[in-house]
Order: sequence, then structure tokens, then C-alpha cells
Amino acid sequence: MTHMAIQTAILEQIKQYSTIIIHRHQHPDPDCVGAQLGLRTILRASFPEKTILAVGKHYPGFDWLGQADTDVTDDQYQNALVIVVDTANQPRVDDARWQTGKAVVKIDHHPNDDAFGDLQWVEDQASSTSELLYDFYAANAAELTLPTEAARLFYAGIVGDTGRFMYPATSAHTMEVAGKLMATGFSASDVNQAEDEVSPAMARLSAYVYQNLTILPSGAAYLKLSDADLEPFELGETDSTSAVVPLPGKITTVKAWAFFVEAKDHTYRIRLRSKGPSINGLAKAHGGGGHALASGATAHDQAEIDQVVQELDALVAQDKGE
Ligand code: AMP
Repeated sequence: MTHMAIQTAILEQIKQYSTIIIHRHQHPDPDCVGAQLGLRTILRASFPEKTILAVGKHYPGFDWLGQADTDVTDDQYQNALVIVVDTANQPRVDDARWQTGKAVVKIDHHPNDDAFGDLQWVEDQASSTSELLYDFYAANAAELTLPTEAARLFYAGIVGDTGRFMYPATSAHTMEVAGKLMATGFSASDVNQAEDEVSPAMARLSAYVYQNLTILPSGAAYLKLSDADLEPFELGETDSTSAVVPLPGKITTVKAWAFFVEAKDHTYRIRLRSKGPSINGLAKAHGGGGHALASGATAHDQAEIDQVVQELDALVAQDKGE
């Protein structure tokens, strides 16, 4: 299906349902929240007679973008169209009820390793799902309304997933979309600032990251953040270690890096990033996945952490040799 055809097909699906429930992924980021709430805003403005809902665990750190609906009942799924945004793998969808809808549409920009949904629109070259959803609006502009609030939300998503237009997935089209969104009149600098600011606790954690990061001669770098390491920083409920994950990329000698963050079940969430060599194969080998330059997985013990570090080191060293 051409891009245009899929965008029209998604709108046709939407038109057939009176209830539409939009899901995002667990551990939300500005792109999945912006895409989800931006789509909700567009559909509410365009189809006032329909019930348009967004679900997902509440994270106060994202309240500046808006909130999901807290009162969605199981019954509402019976005849609903479910749209899952920004989520590559089924287990990562926030709220398992997504599977209980009548039909599912997947809209995403991650590699389509887990091709789920009755209708799928996946473009892994796009900067963000928010950019795709602007394209969805633009392709159907005769029938859809883009409120300024939706534009603000999509802009926030693009800014989040491009590291403020810095990462390679930022295309000329991304910049065009950002410009069109800005032209609706929200304050882009307020959004930029909201995504740039960190709490004093996070600022201190950033210093810790730079002090304690291990940088190997290959250009691979890593840092383990256990509960005990994080405890002295007294991070608040709106703080997330996500804010420190990009920091090693600012160092000239670092080519790819891994954070190992202790999870509630005492496994370690692996957060992999790269400025060159593809690291999603490594993530997949450890039960995860993701983009070529940003992936994640889980390490079950120290031995697996050591193994990931070795594999990352070899991968970066090999990339250098080519
Ligand atoms: P994160 O470090 O959690 O922000 O993850 C970066 C990217 O890696 C995400 O956008 C996902 O595409 C992917 N990812 C992270 N964790 C997993 C996982 N456990 N399984 C599959 N993909 C993941």
C-alpha cells in the first residue's frame, strides 16, 4: 500500500467506529505521549460525536503534555477500534486491554519486528510517530481538524525523539513538519525548555554519570545504575533516568554506550545508544530490540551485564576497523 493509501485506509477505519481507544507503550516518552494525545485531540475536534479515549499509566512528569483518560471501562472495548501508537512489540503495549477491541491499527516508526494489528502503518525511517501522525493529518486535511494543542503535542514528540533535531533520523521532512506545527501558534520555546530542564536531583545524577562512566579504548562506554547507586540522589517521582541516557553521546571518544538500570525485580534494564554502529542486533540477542541507534533489552544478572559490555566493545571495535 502506498503511504497515501494507508493514511486514507486508517481514516476510513476510524470513520466506521463510534469508540476509538488509543494506546501507547510502557515507560512512556514525549513521542508516544505526544503522538497519543495529539491524535486524541485531532479526532475529538474532527469527530465530536465519537468517543475518543487514550489509556496508559499516569506519569506526573508528563502532565505538561496532558493526561490519558482514567475512566475507560472494559465494556468500552467491545465495539472499539484500538489504535496502538509508537509501540513495536505487543508485550510493550501499556494496558493489556488493547487486545480486546474489535480491530487494531498499529502506527509506529520502529522496525516492524512484531507485525501486529489488522492494519499497520510502520515507517522505520521516520523521526517519530508524532511526525507520522502529522502526515496522517496532512493527507486527510480536508476531513480533519488540527487544533493548536495537537500541533504542540506532535512538536513535543518530534523534539523528544530527535534529541532536539540532532539525531540522524531528523530529515528535511521532519523540519518541514516542525515548521508547519509551529505555524499553528503554540510556544515552541516553552516545549523545548520543558524537555530540556531537569530537577536538581537529576543534575547531580548527570554529574555522577560523567564521573563514573567507563569508556573503553574502542569507544564503547557503560555505566551500571543499581538501586544503591541511585538512592543518594533522592530522585523524585517525576524524575526518570531517561534524561541521563543521551549524555555519554556528548563525549567525543564515545561511539556507543549502555546503561544498566536496576528494575523492580532486580534484573537490569539495558539501554543502548549509538552514534554509528547498529546496536539493535545486540539488543535482540538479549531478548529486546529497537532502532539501529537506540535499543533496549534486559540483563538478568551480572554475568549478562558483563557479556553485553564485551559484545558492545567488540561491535564498536569491529565498526572502527571497517
Ligand atoms: P529505551 O532505552 O527504553 O528508551 O529504549 C530505546 C528503544 O529501544 C525503544 O524505543 C524501543 O524501540 C527499544 N526497546 C527498549 N526496550 C526494549 C525491549 N525490552 N524490547 C524491545 N525493544 C525495546
